[in-house]
Amino acid sequence: MLGLASPPSRIGPILKPRPSETGQNSEGGSALGQSYSLPKSYEPSTEEPKWQQWWQDKKVHRFDPSDTSRPTYSIDTPPPYPSGEFHVGNALNWSYFDFIARYKRMKGYNVHFPQGWDCNGLPTEVRAEKTHKIRKNDVPLAQFVEMCRKLTEEYIAQMKETIIRLGISSDWELEYKTMDHSYYRLTQLSFLRLYKTGHMYRGEHPVNWCPRCETAIAEAEVEREERQGSIHYLRFGEGVDSVELASTRPELLAACVAIAVHPEDPRYTKLVGKQITVPLFQQRVKVISDNDVDSSFGTGAVMVCTFGDKMDVTWQKRHNLPVIRAISDNGHLTEAAGQFKGLRLEEARKQIVERLKHEGRLSKTETSQQNVGTCWRCHTPVEILARPQWFMGVRNMTPAVKDWTEKLHWIPPFARQRMIDWAQSLDWDWVVSRQRLFATPIPVWYCKKCGETATPSEDALPVDPRKDPSPVKKCPKCGSEDFVGEADVFDTWMDSSISSAVHAGWPNESSNFKRLFPADLQPNGFDIIRTWDYYLLVRSLALFGIPPYKTLMINGMVRGTDGRMMHKSYGNYVETEEVLRKLGADALRQWAAAGGSTGQDIPFRWADAEHGRKFLTKLWNVARFILASVPSPVSETSPAGLSLVDRWILSSTQKLIEEVSEALDGFQFNVAIEAIRNFTWHSLADNYLEAVKYRLQPEADLASREAARHCLYHAIVTVCKLVAPFCPHIAESIYQMLPKKEPVESVHLTMWPKPEPSMLNDSWMREGNILVEAIALGRRRKSENGMSLSAPVKKLLIAAPEASLRLLKENQETIARTLRAEQLTLEQSPPNGPGGESDMHVEIVS
Ligand SMILES: [Zn+2]
Ligand SMILES: [Zn+2]
Repeated sequence: MLGLASPPSRIGPILKPRPSETGQNSEGGSALGQSYSLPKSYEPSTEEPKWQQWWQDKKVHRFDPSDTSRPTYSIDTPPPYPSGEFHVGNALNWSYFDFIARYKRMKGYNVHFPQGWDCNGLPTEVRAEKTHKIRKNDVPLAQFVEMCRKLTEEYIAQMKETIIRLGISSDWELEYKTMDHSYYRLTQLSFLRLYKTGHMYRGEHPVNWCPRCETAIAEAEVEREERQGSIHYLRFGEGVDSVELASTRPELLAACVAIAVHPEDPRYTKLVGKQITVPLFQQRVKVISDNDVDSSFGTGAVMVCTFGDKMDVTWQKRHNLPVIRAISDNGHLTEAAGQFKGLRLEEARKQIVERLKHEGRLSKTETSQQNVGTCWRCHTPVEILARPQWFMGVRNMTPAVKDWTEKLHWIPPFARQRMIDWAQSLDWDWVVSRQRLFATPIPVWYCKKCGETATPSEDALPVDPRKDPSPVKKCPKCGSEDFVGEADVFDTWMDSSISSAVHAGWPNESSNFKRLFPADLQPNGFDIIRTWDYYLLVRSLALFGIPPYKTLMINGMVRGTDGRMMHKSYGNYVETEEVLRKLGADALRQWAAAGGSTGQDIPFRWADAEHGRKFLTKLWNVARFILASVPSPVSETSPAGLSLVDRWILSSTQKLIEEVSEALDGFQFNVAIEAIRNFTWHSLADNYLEAVKYRLQPEADLASREAARHCLYHAIVTVCKLVAPFCPHIAESIYQMLPKKEPVESVHLTMWPKPEPSMLNDSWMREGNILVEAIALGRRRKSENGMSLSAPVKKLLIAAPEASLRLLKENQETIARTLRAEQLTLEQSPPNGPGGESDMHVEIVS
């Protein structure tokens, strides 16, 4: 027979506990009547800067090159472009780096965590022009570069301050700037070595060109945008030798060099091989047939220009067509366009269409959505221009890039495909020369007579061929002594794509180089896989034969407060400084950690950061209570007299260590921070603290008190360490107040906790959960009756399944005293499930 109620068990009236010492309303003072010095509330605005300064003074984050006892862990962080801005998306990047850096330090690694600055480049030139109200060529080169340097230094100072205020544990002794002459030397050296091994070459190939920035740009710097455009139907030629074709770029008529049709298009078979006159400009062009013509576009006949798009480049080479340079470097038509010379492209298109209409050559115009390649810096449509440029041969490296990409460790794994797709999509080699000023000079001179390239010796670097005389006095080819220096400079990715080797001390390939290179971790955003990660990989494979990193941790993009991409004009843009001012670094870092799994896009939500701030308050109050209860160190070993609830919290603490370590090893920050917050908030504060308060009273049994103190201390030390990578400031504040056990100054120099196997006990967990559930039900019942937890109850009834009853009886003192029940009745609950199982019930009888 089921459901036979066992006889009620009673305990007598119990001692009244003192008023609650925990929770957010607690006053200062000790549960044990002793004083302690943790301030009542946690103030990030005073605590955070204090620890930041202290860490710097104590060199807590320093990489120790002479220490060979610990394994190294090197992080190749992306050197940001010094724009002076640091929004919450950047805060997420840096927080991710820092979670790992701090975790690895505590795991016993000698962590190499530098911060660099990718200084050179166009945006700074544009800002210098604006700031000084000049054009770059209005002042001497050296003066202009100096203006750019000064601006860059100012921006670096601002960003560095934010990075420090965010609590990032960079080792500032390892700081580097790509605009330093010492760095120019390294970029130039890497180029010379790759030039000697045939990876770098100069050629006149068409490249992507931004007419507004007036420079070549790489494939990776071209963005695709959908734009509304027009297709114009134009008639070429006369009579039987005429053809109608559709073009989106009539302004390039002057550069038309052929008409292409598909070989199997019956409409045009008779025309192939004939010469047809181009309207307005009158050049005669040949009709060619090519399998790549899309017969379904327009009329099936297309005009080939040099160069309207990448297909034109292919056709020009394949059919050996002439090149007509109709567009100037700054986006105007050249003399090749005759009467239209000097017009900007937009204007030229309008005028040419008008003229075609006037001459009866335009039959119709349709609007269409066009996929336009634009410059990533200024969004001007990109042109394709041919002029001599320096290239790195990367297309022949694609098989190697793919092989290595597959072997490397990617987090999340799906990011790997982006690299492979990118490498395989490349039609052209990487153009590494730029027609700009504020950048690393290309270390070559040319013989004026025969064009031979002269390079300096490695010892002579850095050089600036824009002002330095040629280091080679006599041309080895023709004997001429007349040289001209290269005026072009390097793409900034040429600087930053050797970062991991530079950190490791290259070109000095000492033992430290071998320890630090390849970097253990390459952390960056999804958006720069095709640039930074790709360029690093090809440069490293070419220079060293191995990849520059072992693990890539790719973070998703941060969206604005409304879920759209964050943009200043959308009003959803949040500066890191604003969040730091309002909520502090540890709250913001929790948002970064908790937002989503690594690699996922996440929005910035104020509520999430505010929740982080609330957690800090909770943790602080828990710590204050515990420190008041445990004013002196407790024994390392578990004391005798552990009750079930003690064994439960010890086991839960071990479980937490396991969970958080595993999550951090897998770079899953959201899993780790949620586990820590849940444990602290619920297991420790709501359940354990409440259940042991009565045992901390002076009149309580000594052994029982010591057991509770031991568990509380163990829990707070553990939480303090586990939360340290995420909330480094509050962790330090609490750690500094603990009666210390480890001979190190900072929590960040302590060893990461290891779970104690003897305390990872499943039956402790299972049984403890039953006890905790009973207390939680009682608390809920009291709250439903409008009673606080500390309000006394005369009589409490708990009905539980038979299997739990014995256990609850053994722990009835804990239940009764925690719930402040003067009388507790335990009985077996009747079965109510389909299989005869029963639930636990708690009732306040009176
Ligand atoms: Zn541009
Ligand atoms: Zn020569």
